Amino acid sequence: MTIQSKLPNAGTTIFTVMSALATEHHAVNLGQGFPDFPMNEELSGLVAAAMKNNFNQYSPMPGWMPLREAIAAKAHYLYGAEVDPAHEITITPGGTYAIYTALTAILQPGDEVIVFEPAYDSYIPNIEVNGARAITIPLVFPDYHIDWDAVKQAINPRTKAIIINSPHNPTGSVIGTSDIEELRKVTAGTNIFIISDEVYEHLIFDDIPHQSMLRYPDLLERSFVCFSFGKTYSCTGWKIGYCIAPAELTKEFRKIHQFNCFACNTPVQVGLAQFLENKDAYLSLAAFIQEKRDYFKQLMQSTRFTLQESFGSYFICGTYERISDEPDKDFAVRLTKEAGVATIPVSAFYQFGKDDKVVRFCFSKNKETLELAVERLMKV
Ligand code: GLN
Repeated sequence: MTIQSKLPNAGTTIFTVMSALATEHHAVNLGQGFPDFPMNEELSGLVAAAMKNNFNQYSPMPGWMPLREAIAAKAHYLYGAEVDPAHEITITPGGTYAIYTALTAILQPGDEVIVFEPAYDSYIPNIEVNGARAITIPLVFPDYHIDWDAVKQAINPRTKAIIINSPHNPTGSVIGTSDIEELRKVTAGTNIFIISDEVYEHLIFDDIPHQSMLRYPDLLERSFVCFSFGKTYSCTGWKIGYCIAPAELTKEFRKIHQFNCFACNTPVQVGLAQFLENKDAYLSLAAFIQEKRDYFKQLMQSTRFTLQESFGSYFICGTYERISDEPDKDFAVRLTKEAGVATIPVSAFYQFGKDDKVVRFCFSKNKETLELAVERLMKV
């Protein structure tokens, strides 16, 4: 039996490939983005207690109501947003799922979606599986800002959505108020949706405020805003997040969600609902991770890599032109096998594999992990 593939150009994701290679070669894994330090024990305790207290059956399809209420309170506290937990918040198995569901809810065959490259690797397959087309626009090197003139030129009657991702994976760039102004200008008076990937909302450094769509009612009215508890509470393996969108948009979002995952893990939602009251747990994350970024940057000065800037996320990118002129995928594989450090080749974040000879490092790790990795990288 053969299948006519819906994603003929897709292989296995680079994160899976590089993590498997890291395991095989006992390499330090600075590839796939996940912390190697323990998560907050109070939160895991609350979830364990919820399981023991028999919160083990289906939660409501849109999510455990106390969790949605806690999210609405957080959205108000952080961004001044008025979000209705009954009709505008849906709990999802992770941020990636929320983005996929939003795209699936809005896209018709032939639609176009504006995607900035480098782009997180699920966006374009999510668009194509729905019969739509990604219109890619390069972020401008070296700070990876958005070229709004290029956006204006790309917009046409087929443009259905723009995907915004700040803090940005893989570059660590962030959008500012001028980007918000431009986004307003290009979308005002159109039917263009915004898919806003804000999974790194609390991983933003140097006291830069996070420009959430939740701050701007006129943008929020056309947005699906996607978040991840895995990133906020250092438990990426829990695969739990949520999507905030206006009621009319959420209605269609839930039509897709109810026939896919239906409802998320109940004890995790019960634990999170209680833990969200502790504001310090999410507010202290930025400083904690920033210290790791700074430490990694400092250590890397003893290597022949040249790091770029990172203002947010788990990631920082670096060029290796002083080491090799190999294509980035070959280099990343060799680095894993021979030097014992796994990274992600940034060409994986381009539709046609554009290779600027850059690799992405995840610095959301224990000090000892970063030290061991850099000790090895110093030898290449
Ligand atoms: N978001 C993570 C990263 O960019 C990976 C998630 C995944 O492996 N699918 O590394």
